[in-house]
Amino acid sequence: MAFNLAELLKKRQGENYILHDRYINPTFTKVLKIIGFDRVYTKGEGAYLYDAQGNQYLDFISGYGVFNLGRNHPTINEVLKQLLDYGYPNLVKMEAPLISGLLAEELVKKMPTGLDCVFFANSGTEGVETALKFSRAASGRFKTVFVKGAFHGLTYGSLSVNGDEHFREGFGPMLPGCVMVPFNDLEALEKELSSRDVGGFVVEPIQGKGVNLPDANYLPEAERLCRKYGTYFIVDEVQTGMGRTGKFLALEHWNLNPDMVIVSKSLSGGQIPVCAVVGRKQIFLKVFNRLDRCVVHSTTFSQNAIAMAAGLAALHVLEEEKLIENAAKMGDLILKEINARRQKFELLREGRGKGLMIGIAFGAPKSLKLKIAWEILHKADAGLFAQSIIMPLLDKHHILTQVAGHNMDVIKLLPVLSINELDVRRFITAFDDVMEACHRFPGPMWEIGTRLAKHALRGTSKGSRESLTDSQL
Ligand code: PLP
Repeated sequence: MAFNLAELLKKRQGENYILHDRYINPTFTKVLKIIGFDRVYTKGEGAYLYDAQGNQYLDFISGYGVFNLGRNHPTINEVLKQLLDYGYPNLVKMEAPLISGLLAEELVKKMPTGLDCVFFANSGTEGVETALKFSRAASGRFKTVFVKGAFHGLTYGSLSVNGDEHFREGFGPMLPGCVMVPFNDLEALEKELSSRDVGGFVVEPIQGKGVNLPDANYLPEAERLCRKYGTYFIVDEVQTGMGRTGKFLALEHWNLNPDMVIVSKSLSGGQIPVCAVVGRKQIFLKVFNRLDRCVVHSTTFSQNAIAMAAGLAALHVLEEEKLIENAAKMGDLILKEINARRQKFELLREGRGKGLMIGIAFGAPKSLKLKIAWEILHKADAGLFAQSIIMPLLDKHHILTQVAGHNMDVIKLLPVLSINELDVRRFITAFDDVMEACHRFPGPMWEIGTRLAKHALRGTSKGSRESLTDSQL
């Protein structure tokens, strides 16, 4: 009997949460239910998700930023079908596949000068592991410096350079030689690098957690210090790359010229896991330095033809549809609208970011009534306020957003890069409505907060705090 996927999905539709409760991650489904995110989406297209009733949702998470080109982009889906129909000899292994050579060639063209060699992996964290290993092997130095608040993935090497204790809790000890310095602190960085035993300094151009921007001279100076002390400068563009910030790579905002760059997420257009570490050939030659070490760093699915084909198509679409330019334009518009409301809404601190990687930060209000509500909520759990903003955005306005990190009053917008002015208007109208609601006390927003606080406190009293404020990757 033929296997019919569409029929299977239709027949079992709605069993999502039962299956996940039973077989996958019941803690996560519990959180989704508490915050009202336990929806069943049945279709994704461009910037939108749809449920079975045909309701349309504006997706401002885009799969943690993998769908820069939009969901189910026709060119990406078409090229995947083409590749499968072609009968391509995938993963032969003992050969040099044309398709990965072609993608490497395209990527190198888009990199700063001197980055001329590519290692393909399957996820962002695998790319970071690669850069950590390469920087150690090529420099002969075992230390890595990273910054507070950084997020580079959750496998052991990447976790060891994660700047948020929350992710490390319970998994220690970490990789030795990983040293954390405060973000934007060049003095602290120089102090570490000057010992000349640091192989690599790894940094996100814009921190994904919290959407924190570097000071204007931080990254160029960090690069200079790395050169001075013989440390490889590694820029993690897993989230910021592929046009997200209004440039192909965010490092272009500061004219950086690192030794290694990591791109992933949207490189495949979102459907297939992929990652590329692009670096200087001399680094690669120091890793693969003898014939018996020619595959000393590798992974089975590296250069998977499906991912490579999708990568070639994704680079094409990015240019063809001028998505990078659109990201810059729509991002400016959102930030302008948000920041124009700072006077009006005393809880609003600022909108910040570049292109379509945007953080909206809130802060303690001045008026007495709101101040008391704010303090009570923060005493219960430092992350609940942001959570209570994203809940009505989804429930009432059908806009999917996320909190920007643990224990912070920041929400994050990561829409697809093809959004238009109508989408921006829809978000701003919804944002106004939610902001107005949370400036009324007592009011519906604070009721949401109180409800969440009860769950959080119940979790604490059992000694097993529920991760209501868990931020997404
Ligand atoms: N680096 C950065 C900057 C990221 O934002 C992420 C994931 O969000 C990673 C690395 C890890 O990527 P992955 O989740 O594909 O392992």
